[in-house]
Amino acid sequence: MPFIELQNELNERAALGLLRHRCTLQSPQAPHIMVGGKSYLSFCSNDYLGLANHSQLIAALQQGAQQHGVGAGAAHLVSGHNATHHQLENELASFVGKPAALLFSTGYMANLGVVQALAGKGDTVFADKLNHASLNDAMQLSRATVKRYHHNDMTQLAQLLEQARSGRKLVITDAVFSMDGDLAPLPELLALCEQHDAWLLIDDAHGFGVLGEQGRGSLAHFGIASERVICMATLGKAAGVFGAFVAAEQVVVDTLINNARSYIYTTATPPALASAVLASLQLIANGDELRGHLQRLIAQLRSGLRNLPWSALPSATAIQPLLVGGNQAALNLSAALRERGIWVAAIRPPTVPQGTARLRITLSAAHRAADVTRLTGALHELAQG
Ligand SMILES: *Cc1c(COP(=O)(O)O)cnc(C)c1O
Repeated sequence: MPFIELQNELNERAALGLLRHRCTLQSPQAPHIMVGGKSYLSFCSNDYLGLANHSQLIAALQQGAQQHGVGAGAAHLVSGHNATHHQLENELASFVGKPAALLFSTGYMANLGVVQALAGKGDTVFADKLNHASLNDAMQLSRATVKRYHHNDMTQLAQLLEQARSGRKLVITDAVFSMDGDLAPLPELLALCEQHDAWLLIDDAHGFGVLGEQGRGSLAHFGIASERVICMATLGKAAGVFGAFVAAEQVVVDTLINNARSYIYTTATPPALASAVLASLQLIANGDELRGHLQRLIAQLRSGLRNLPWSALPSATAIQPLLVGGNQAALNLSAALRERGIWVAAIRPPTVPQGTARLRITLSAAHRAADVTRLTGALHELAQG
């Protein structure tokens, strides 16, 4: 058995500071978490509104389980599609301003499903180089020709679109880049897609619930409405639950129901999760105070990150990466914070490009100003030490 080979590969990873391992939480997801019997102030969840452990979501999940039981028992196309799933799809569609929506089990599966359903041999997928791994995997699986453009480089994208002469064209991009926190220029992207008759798939995993009026997401943030835009968003981040959806024209959704393999060949998520997301949507829509508080924390953090030996990337969102550079240096900084009771994950290649290892600081509306002060104070101490 080639165990020795596997072990050698793991050892090589470890020597490069690239070995990955998990920390085990002994508490719910919240700004203060328990790990190994110790309490830490955490800045690494995507629970941007602090809803993951919200009493109304817990109640809705319990009530949903009473009403629907636990397991969906079958795929959506067999007998797993519940009235609550259906209601949630309708509400999500209208919330993001689209005619129809389709629930997927996860964002990863949604991206695989959409790209594979809409693009195949002879078609071309155009992708930002900093897109999320799930979009990268999706385009490889689709068998379409793949053209990657430099991050947010509209000039290069225009040239690539110009060169593609036949087949369907699909541009795919994170709306908020998951490891950088910056935004894709959606109005410019849409203009290019219109000019070249391309579809635009936006991955709003980090915009939904946070950006735009009432947290309706990146399309609302930019005031964009177009039939050629397909919007994917996840329900396990700001929404605080689990799952994902794709919102688009009805004919696109019908195409997904018939062609998206990651939709067809998998069990529907428990309907009680849909009950919880319905409760979450109410909190999101009425969450201006949460979003206002989050914005103030972002401003406070950014000013507190000035004058450090590590640079804060230009982000206006709840994702605030602190660029460290080397893998080991990023791990060391993360470990030094942990010794001070603060948990911030170090993100290393291949999740981010070589030489750009970073601390990915994320804020939540559940943080208090004093929490941010504690983090920036610790970083300034470490910079001197
Ligand atoms: C988290 C994330 C996904 C995957 O969503 P899951 O529901 O966690 O599978 C997809 N795209 C982006 C940009 C993400 O950050």
